[in-house]
Amino acid sequence: MTEQVTFHLEPDERPTHWYNIVADLPTPPAPPLHPGTHQPVGPDDLTALFPPELIEQEVTGERYVEIPEAVQEVYAQYRPAPLIRARKWEEKLGTKARIYVKYEGGSPAGSHKVNTAVPQAYYNKINGINRLTTETGAGQWGTALSYACSLYDMTCEVWQVGHSFDTKPQRRTLIEVFGGKVYRSPSQDTESGRAFEEGHPGSLGIAISEAVEVAAAAPDAKYALGSVLNHVLLHQTIIGQEAVKQLEKAGETGADIVIGCAGGGSNLAGLIFPFLRENLVEGKKARLVAVEPASCPTMTRGTFAYDFGDTAGLVPLMKMYTLGHDFVPSPIHAGGLRYHGMAPLVSHVVHEGYVEPVALAQDECFAAAVEFARTQGIVAAPESSHALAQAKREVLKANEEGTEPVIVIGLSGYGLLELGAFDSYLKGNLSGDSQLSDEELATSLSTVPVIEG
Ligand SMILES: *Cc1c(COP(=O)(O)O)cnc(C)c1O
Repeated sequence: MTEQVTFHLEPDERPTHWYNIVADLPTPPAPPLHPGTHQPVGPDDLTALFPPELIEQEVTGERYVEIPEAVQEVYAQYRPAPLIRARKWEEKLGTKARIYVKYEGGSPAGSHKVNTAVPQAYYNKINGINRLTTETGAGQWGTALSYACSLYDMTCEVWQVGHSFDTKPQRRTLIEVFGGKVYRSPSQDTESGRAFEEGHPGSLGIAISEAVEVAAAAPDAKYALGSVLNHVLLHQTIIGQEAVKQLEKAGETGADIVIGCAGGGSNLAGLIFPFLRENLVEGKKARLVAVEPASCPTMTRGTFAYDFGDTAGLVPLMKMYTLGHDFVPSPIHAGGLRYHGMAPLVSHVVHEGYVEPVALAQDECFAAAVEFARTQGIVAAPESSHALAQAKREVLKANEEGTEPVIVIGLSGYGLLELGAFDSYLKGNLSGDSQLSDEELATSLSTVPVIEG
């Protein structure tokens, strides 16, 4: 009989709750602070932007939060996401390591982001909100939120980072197919946007400021964020909880190495937090690895401090690894990894030593993605290729040392709309991956406010 390489779950094995890592951490992460007063933010500070259920999830200490029935119904359309044993890549790499890939590319928008877009739209809808604003980088989050809003007959307005708007027109079209409206950021429609000259390449920090400004001023609108915040990471734990169960079905007693890419930190957290729970509670010893781009080295070269999440200083100060809120990363193709900060919860577990950060250059990541495509047949998103490249490093090391680790890779999305980037790679002219110099880094870090705490 042919060996089983794809692992699914029965309907009664599907997670019914999201998992909150805060409940199992020995030390709590630092609280967010009000950008004006520098006092811890209370729920009242957030009500202009988010519905009450999401604010509650942002601060909860409960270990498990029930997934609403209506959200489980949508999840059931595309989940569980498959866990795939990458046998053909293993053969190519000549390894005895067992490589498993948790593939989120089969979701409606082609990435993990739908997992949080749907509950965010749902909670807003049941609170009478019919209009959501947001930012998007490469376009995956805008796509996911547009789809979620269309499910609930809501308007979705997306400020897209200028550089991506100019170079990825197909993403914009996809957002529009799902019913969303796209603005190039910085735009002339907001005060935050007008602070920059027209044609500026933009950044996620600027786009966030614009979307927040619009939502805060309109009583019928709220804002939705695709990463970074606790409630977003919480929703993504559906990924890791499924993977833990699927790995068991594959006959494994656990993982030795779990690897994800990290931009704002949501797919990484979603995958690794359930494995971190096993480390903390059950004494398991999986190595958890977070991979970022060398040109946006937030965790490996940034500072761990309170900083603004956006350029205009409208959103709360968060204690996190940051390159400085004015940092404009070089225009690498993994647009989803170009954020100056890292989720406070991910920053906390990295700072506490539970998760190892590494930074990789763009070329190595595309090389791994192409090799993976030619063996497994899946074209990974440029973001996800960072996890593949790190996995390859681990495999080559294991081959040398004669070990046979079980490796789980988070494949956060597909790259079918980034074929332009693959085209550049294949022609040998990938651009934009400039190494950040120590001087540039120091200048950028000097914008981090000095705040005790
Ligand atoms: C947005 C995105 C990322 C980066 O965001 P995180 O919050 O760090 O997960 C990674 N991969 C894909 C495919 C994305 O769309």
